Amino acid sequence: MDVKRKLEILADAAKYDASCASSGTEKRDSRDGKGIGSTDAGMGICHSYAPDGRCISLLKILLTNACNYDCLYCVNRASSNVTRARFTVDEVVQLTLDFYRRNYIEGLFLSSGIIRSADYTMEQVVAVARKLREEHHFRGYIHLKTIPEADDALITEAGKYADRLSINIEVPEEDSLAKLAPEKDVRAIRRTMGRLRLKLDEAREGRKPTPRGKVGPRFAPAGQSTQMIVGADSANDSTIIRTSANLYGSYNLKRVYYSAFSPIPDASRALPLRAPPLIREHRLYQADWLMRFYGFDADEIVDDNDGMLSLDMDPKLAWALRHRDRFPLDVNRASREDLLRVPGFGAKAVQRIIETRRISSIRVGDLARLHIPRNKALPFIVLPDHRPTVNLLDSARLVERFKPKATQLGFGF
Ligand code: SF4
Repeated sequence: MDVKRKLEILADAAKYDASCASSGTEKRDSRDGKGIGSTDAGMGICHSYAPDGRCISLLKILLTNACNYDCLYCVNRASSNVTRARFTVDEVVQLTLDFYRRNYIEGLFLSSGIIRSADYTMEQVVAVARKLREEHHFRGYIHLKTIPEADDALITEAGKYADRLSINIEVPEEDSLAKLAPEKDVRAIRRTMGRLRLKLDEAREGRKPTPRGKVGPRFAPAGQSTQMIVGADSANDSTIIRTSANLYGSYNLKRVYYSAFSPIPDASRALPLRAPPLIREHRLYQADWLMRFYGFDADEIVDDNDGMLSLDMDPKLAWALRHRDRFPLDVNRASREDLLRVPGFGAKAVQRIIETRRISSIRVGDLARLHIPRNKALPFIVLPDHRPTVNLLDSARLVERFKPKATQLGFGF
């Protein structure tokens, strides 16, 4: 099988993994004439995103789609009837360098099915990164998927070459993982995440310059991340968000990625027949953002009634509509924490408000300059020239106002 055909198979097999953003790494470039590649935006690196927000600027492939495991949700599982392929280490290295030189990519995202053993597979993955860094002085971005059961020394070596390491938690609940991926061991996944956290903390501490200017060895400067599949089991949004909060807190993850389950050929009966709406994945990302940058607790984001995020409106607006007693808020006096909870107020807008109001009062006419959508924010705020009517804030009409307009279904002709 030629490399082009392998690439078709192994790039397609990798598309189900959503965790490939390249943010947060250290800056490296090759302007000194040594090495190849850069992690610095604007150095001829093409950043591009799929319409659903997934980063596609990395060469995202599997080393092989053969796998000993039989995870029911995975198209590459042992019992799947797909064409199998396997790259050699040198083929992945060459492809990465060729694509990089043509400016197609800014780096490599490498994962693999598990062949022979966890250690053998991890050795192959690490060998790609080692060759790129040590033989070809590749300074672009490298994200390696880590196999939880692999030997600690291999994981340490992976961290030496990779910018980011990730281990997929797969599904939010342990019981579901036992049913859907019986060979996977949730304790091994959590244990390895914990070990990665310790190594990351040690490396961060060790890389602070000493008076003699010495710094310790690098270890995955862009940290660790994970992915959760949404909709493959019955976990509701509340469970997913609480699991994410626990992962962020326990393992200091940089990101949790959410990937809407896609039905696969010859799927098991244990899986749903239909994919969840893609907007559910989007709402989970918004909820995740609220926890990380807006001071929300996992427990308050989702309505307790059904444990699901509204598909009709973003989670911050939905929260504000459930807590109307907290509004209207005086924009010229409210604390940063309260301002961050106003629908339509982004973190940057809140910063601009705080800077602006030190000098002059903010009025309705200033909202556009602050990039705040008037229609969304006005029912919840007080300004010197605006106060929402009590009737509006209390009325059921307010919810209707924010719901998307109903559209009549077409007849298909
Ligand atoms: S171990 Fe990974 S590649 Fe193998 S079946 Fe499970 S999810 Fe798929």
